[in-house]
Amino acid sequence: MGLVNHVEPEVPVYSDRYDRSLALGEGGALLTSGQKVGMALAGFGLLLFVVAAFGAGPISPVKAFVAGLLVLVFGLVLYYTRSLAAPTTRLSKGARTGLVLFGAGLLGLLAAATGAGSLAPVFFFAWGIGLTCLGGLLYFRARYAGHPAGIRNDGLMHSATTARGAVGWLLGIVFTGFYVLLYWFPGALEGLIRTVDPLSHLLRGGPADQWFLYGTFYTLAVLVMGVRALYRYRHSRYQVLRTLSVMFFQLVFAYLIPAILVVLNQPEFYFSYFWPLKYSYLWPSDVGWLMAHPGGLGVFMVFWGVVLSFVATPILTYFFGKRWYCSWVCGCGGLAETFGDPWRHLSDKSLKAWQIERWMVHGVLVFVVVTTALLWINSATEGAIFGGLSQAYARAYGFLIGAVFAGVIGVGFYPVMGSRVWCRFGCPMAAILGLFQKYFSRFRITTNGGQCISCGNCSAYCEMGIDVRWYAQRGQNVIRASCVGCGICSAVCPRGVLNLENGPRRGRYNGPVLVERDALTLLSEEDVAG
Ligand code: SF4
Ligand code: SF4
Repeated sequence: MGLVNHVEPEVPVYSDRYDRSLALGEGGALLTSGQKVGMALAGFGLLLFVVAAFGAGPISPVKAFVAGLLVLVFGLVLYYTRSLAAPTTRLSKGARTGLVLFGAGLLGLLAAATGAGSLAPVFFFAWGIGLTCLGGLLYFRARYAGHPAGIRNDGLMHSATTARGAVGWLLGIVFTGFYVLLYWFPGALEGLIRTVDPLSHLLRGGPADQWFLYGTFYTLAVLVMGVRALYRYRHSRYQVLRTLSVMFFQLVFAYLIPAILVVLNQPEFYFSYFWPLKYSYLWPSDVGWLMAHPGGLGVFMVFWGVVLSFVATPILTYFFGKRWYCSWVCGCGGLAETFGDPWRHLSDKSLKAWQIERWMVHGVLVFVVVTTALLWINSATEGAIFGGLSQAYARAYGFLIGAVFAGVIGVGFYPVMGSRVWCRFGCPMAAILGLFQKYFSRFRITTNGGQCISCGNCSAYCEMGIDVRWYAQRGQNVIRASCVGCGICSAVCPRGVLNLENGPRRGRYNGPVLVERDALTLLSEEDVAG
């Protein structure tokens, strides 16, 4: 026997790229001083939350909460910036510049939120919002433009931001906190609201309110993160067109047109949202208000809503699946596909989650249908049958589904549960479109199973929690009610296995091409002879 050479490795078994999800624990010794300051500030921010919760301290609870939120954001940005700027990540000069500008912009927002925004709105708009967007764009250009297109798996599951690490959880708290303030304590956002006053005057001819601030932030998030998606998925024409589409519909249909309608003294109407997602558009109160509006445009809006909900939606879904809306038009989908893209892999792929999803999303659909029916019966009978019941239903639906689920949970939980929590578990529009897609549509994702190497990229990046690989391995078409047709599974597949297609309905449901063990019966010689 010959000798086996055994050479001790000269380098440590583990690379020097430490796991940032542990940065608060064992990896703490590896934190840079900037990161430590960032985490200390974040901790101080959380402390202020406690002060707010118990009403202790010299300042009011709301002010303590706002201050805590802002300090927390700043601490996180500092931590994150220093994390990314650590030598191990080898950030380019452009990326570092972008991060610095982004951090400076957040500081501007912080200053504006303390009330300074009311004193010099234009200055704080340029400083806070302008620098944040500019920094983000510079950063994405540096991070993606000069690099190969497509996903980068490296580090994704070890990042404190994208793998439910400390930063991810804290971002979830910040996003959720923002929604809580927006819905129930808008006074705490006064400084920020005044910062967008000049833009509101320009677009709507009047001062801003919290919803204009929200619309501005929302639209900018879709646009800036849309640029990131364009860089990242530029190798796929489908992704480029789809991303441009959601950016266009958000900017024009959900932001500019409603603002222009306000200037023209018309109802503020969103032509890209329909019942049951925009539930009130077919409720008696809104219909009555629109119909009574002078000039005929209100009547057209009611007509538009009815036609889109009951005629265009089934027809378009028959031809293209639910993707025509969920991944090309809808603002919620647009935010998920752009702002939520860094967390898309966090969707739960388990069978349990699938079961919960079906009960919840169809439960919400039943809830909105019942509420709408009750309201119309109430309207027709002037309350003779149900009394105040229908109004109670409407209020409950508006609070639980419209505010808590769609807003607070739907976006606030991105960094923890993935980017399509609302679309998957709560959106009644997705439920209806899903039923059409499953039973009456030409859409399917075909799989060339012979080429599949079971890498699992498709399942990992499916934001709707669909185990695409399971289908691909069997050569079986993916036909799922929840699939929003985003096409990312196809874009990240290294073997070109998956294709989004609209074909004849016949043969759409194909069985697995694999012969499975249970499908075989072994016969003995006696069996054959007998
Ligand atoms: S199966 Fe593919 S196209 Fe459908 S939602 Fe998942 S990633 Fe998007
Ligand atoms: S990404 Fe492609 S190769 Fe990988 S498991 Fe999915 S279908 Fe198979």
